[in-house]
Formats: sequence, structure tokens, C-alpha cells
Amino acid sequence: MPKLPWLAKTIGQPSPLVIWTATAVGLLIQLMVFAVIALDSYQATVKSSFETTESIARLIEQDIARNIELYDLSLQAVAESVQDSELMALPSRVRQIAVFDRTTTAPGLGAMVVLDKDGSIVLDSVQSPVRPGNFADREYFKFQRDTPNANGFYISRPFEARLQQKAWSVSISRRLNKPDGGFNGIVSGTLKLDFIKQRLETLALGRNGIATLFRADGVVLVQNGSGTENIGADWSKAALFKHAKDESSGTYAGAGLMGGMPRLYAYRRVGDLPLLVSAGIARADVLAPWWLKIELLFAVFAVMAASVILLVAMFNRELRRRIVAEKGQAVLARQDKLSQLSNRLGFDEALAQAWRRAARERQPLSLLMIDVDHFKQFNDRYGHPDGDRVLMAIGGAIGGAVRRPGDVAARYGGEEFAVLLPNTGTDGATRVAETIRRQVAAMAIIHDISSYRIVTLSVGVATVVPAMNLSAQALVADADRALYAAKSGGRNRVCMDAVARIPGQNPELLSA
Ligand code: GH3
Ligand code: MG
Ligand code: MG
Repeated sequence: MPKLPWLAKTIGQPSPLVIWTATAVGLLIQLMVFAVIALDSYQATVKSSFETTESIARLIEQDIARNIELYDLSLQAVAESVQDSELMALPSRVRQIAVFDRTTTAPGLGAMVVLDKDGSIVLDSVQSPVRPGNFADREYFKFQRDTPNANGFYISRPFEARLQQKAWSVSISRRLNKPDGGFNGIVSGTLKLDFIKQRLETLALGRNGIATLFRADGVVLVQNGSGTENIGADWSKAALFKHAKDESSGTYAGAGLMGGMPRLYAYRRVGDLPLLVSAGIARADVLAPWWLKIELLFAVFAVMAASVILLVAMFNRELRRRIVAEKGQAVLARQDKLSQLSNRLGFDEALAQAWRRAARERQPLSLLMIDVDHFKQFNDRYGHPDGDRVLMAIGGAIGGAVRRPGDVAARYGGEEFAVLLPNTGTDGATRVAETIRRQVAAMAIIHDISSYRIVTLSVGVATVVPAMNLSAQALVADADRALYAAKSGGRNRVCMDAVARIPGQNPELLSA
């Protein structure tokens, strides 16, 4: 069956809802792709930052381990010399030179002293004769004295050195034993923490980075940054020590060592020494360039999305305008200008549609074919313009009589009209036909030549319940036949088609 071209076109054009949904889905997919890219780049950024902190932690660790191990070698050399009774018998100036001959001197390493079992200085790397001094109250002295079973190596808590302008230092000491294993004093050297601190300052840890050297028991030895307030503090409860409990190195993300800003940390034990280094880069510093990238990415997306939405809105508006215009044109194309009823095209389409529906619903469909009587003579007598006016008036009467929503009144051609009445049986259709005929007669338009003296109509009525073996044209033919009957029966009357198309209903000829 022929599809209406305008309808096919409208259906072929997606509705605004479909267009908007497709746009939204497209933008959503794009947003998801952006989100995946952002997430991926976030993970890569965090990973590479962890690698940076790890390599920084390794750098500090190696630097400190090498320095302290070298220093310890010196301590061990001094401890050996002290055991040498011949050497110890030398005069004090010579003895000092001999004992400290092999010791390392390096920036950051302070004086090295030998204390006797009571804590008094017996040998001093800096001067001879020795400075008077007793260190029995120092924590490292007490530790070495009271801990015979340790390996003899000890790194002290930080303290402000008595002999060296109050500089923060730690003591690195070795215990001296008597031949029987009893305590015979210590050899101790100082390591200036400021020296380590200076090296921590040079690390590329960003604006809010933090690098800390701890004793393995959690005591802070030195930290980069301004103050010295954390030196000597016990941070053994910090998250770091939970992580470092079982591992000699690792990474973790968390708030500051003791609260504070979130950072990415790497930590390492320092060689075999009882020390731990930790390096942390602030998450905010790490992510700043990432955020910049994300902001740029989403700005691009937002601009793109906005332009897509704008374009789709414009497209939709244009589409709507065209659909309305096409609908308007379609309506106009199916309208008869003179009678304001449907034209032949509109009637044919309506008939096909009504036929299909009636067939589907098994409902009767009626058709009236209406023809003006002796209209040629009317034209001849009164002229074409008057004839047109009559057709206009008849169109108005027919349109007024056809009231139901599915009903279609059309100018079939010339002075012939057709009325389609869905869901209407013979009786109803005949009643409508009669109404139309009477109304036109009631207008009493003078027509001298007609035997009725006025303009009259003849109407043929046909009713059918569409079936497989019938076509819409059969209905038209039936109505035409009835119209012919009305004409030959004397005009100005309604005739029903004599052929029965409705089971159980007797056809009858009606006339006015
Ligand atoms: P009958 O009673 O048998 O129908 O006679 P009739 O003269 O009406 O029929 P016929 O088919 O011989 O003539 C139809 C006339 O209708 C021919 C033409 O003059 C007139 N007519 C057709 N279309 C128009 C129109 O648009 N305007 C006018 N004024 N007249 C028209
Ligand atoms: Mg005619
Ligand atoms: Mg006629």
C-alpha cells in the first residue's frame, strides 16, 4: 500500500527526544573516556611520585650509612689502639697523635673522645692535654656501661654538644671492654646533625616535602625544614613505624608522620644501623600538575559539550520548524480551496486508512457520493462564478453535517462530493445523507431550469464491512451505483446501494 511521503519523511526523521538521548549518551561516553584518562594519569602520577620518594629515601640512606660506617671504622681503630698497652704508655702528646692517626675527618664529624669507666675524658682527638670533662651523666655512656651484651655500637639520642657551641649532635660510640669483659669506658665521636640536615634540605621533595632521620626506636634525629622542635621527640607511635615494623623498606600514603597533610612516603632502614629514613612528598604538590591537566581536559570537554548541545538545539529547532511547515503544507495539499473540504488526494488517503481500520476492527464503513443536480445547466444559466458560490455553500453544508472525529468530507471532483463515515451502518449513513440533502434544499438556491426550482442534491449511500475479497474501490462503486439510482429515480433524493455487503442486513432502496 502506498505510504504517505510526508509521513514517511517525518517518521524517518528522529524525534527530538531520540536526538537528545543520543547526544546525552554520546557526551556521557566521552565523559567516561575522559574520566578513565584522568584516573589513569592519576595513578601514573602517584606511581611515579612513589618512585621518586623511594629513590630519594635510598639516596639519603646510602649517604648516611656510608658516613656512619666510615666513622665507626675510626671508632674501632681507636678502640683497638686503646687496648694496646705499649701505645698507651707513650707520653700524652705522642699517644694522642698515634691513637687518632687513622681516624676519619670529614665535615660533620666532631671531636672523638675516649672516656674511662667513670666517664672522664682520657683521650681527645682535638687537643692534648685533654679538656677536663665528665660525661658519666650522658645517656649513651650509661647505655654502654649498663649493656654488656649489646654489640658495643650505639647511636645516642640527640643532644646539644657541650664542647661544640651547643650544636645539635648525636654520639656514635663503641664500648671498651676489659679482658674479662667488664666495662672499661667508651670511645665516642659526635656527628653534627646540622650537617645531615643540610643534605636533607637539598633533596627534591617539593614545597611541602619532609625528610626525617629516625633512630630505629622512633626518636627523631633530624628533619628538613625550619625548626628543631622535633629533634629528640619520640615518634614511635607514628604510622611509619607500623609500616616499618616488619619491612626494611617500603612506601605508603598517609597523613603526616604525626598527623598533618597527606603525603606519599617511602622509608628505608639505614644499612645495618639502628636508623630509619623517611621521605614524603605532599600529595597536593604531586597532584598540582595533574589537577591542572584535568582542569584543562574538562574545560575542553565542557566547551565541546556546550557546542554540541547548542548545535543539537539549533538542529532540533530547525527540524521542528520544518516538520511544522511540512505538516502545514501537507494539510494544504489535501485541502480543496473552494469548498474548504478535503480534496481528492485527501479523500483517497483517508479512504485507504479508514478501510484498513474498519477491516481491523470489523466495523462497518459507509460512503456517501453526493452530486449536484443539473449543475451544468445552472452554470449555463447563472454563470460560473455563481456556480462556484453554490459549490462553496454546499461544501459548508456538508462540512457542517459531518461532525464525528473520524468522518471525512471531501470534494471528489467538479460538483461531486464524498463523505466517509467510519463505524457507521446503513441507517446512520442514510440519516447523514438525508440531513445534507435537506439542508441544501433548505438553502433554496434558485435554479429555474430544475423541475424543483432550487438547487438540489442526489446522494448515493453504500455501507460495507471490509473483508478479504473486497477493496475500497468496491465501496466507491457501490456508492456510485446508488447515486446513479438516485439520479434515475428523479434526483433530489438519497438512495442506498441495492447490493448487500453486510451479512444479515437487507438492502432497501430509500428515497425522499
Ligand atoms: P446531473 O444532474 O445529471 O448531475 O447533471 P449535471 O449537469 O450536474 O451533470 P454533468 O456531469 O453533466 O455536469 C457537471 C457540471 O458541473 C459541469 C460543470 O459545468 C459543473 N462544474 C464542475 N466543476 C465545477 C466548478 O468547479 N465550478 C462550477 N461553477 N461548475 C462546475
Ligand atoms: Mg456530476
Ligand atoms: Mg451533477
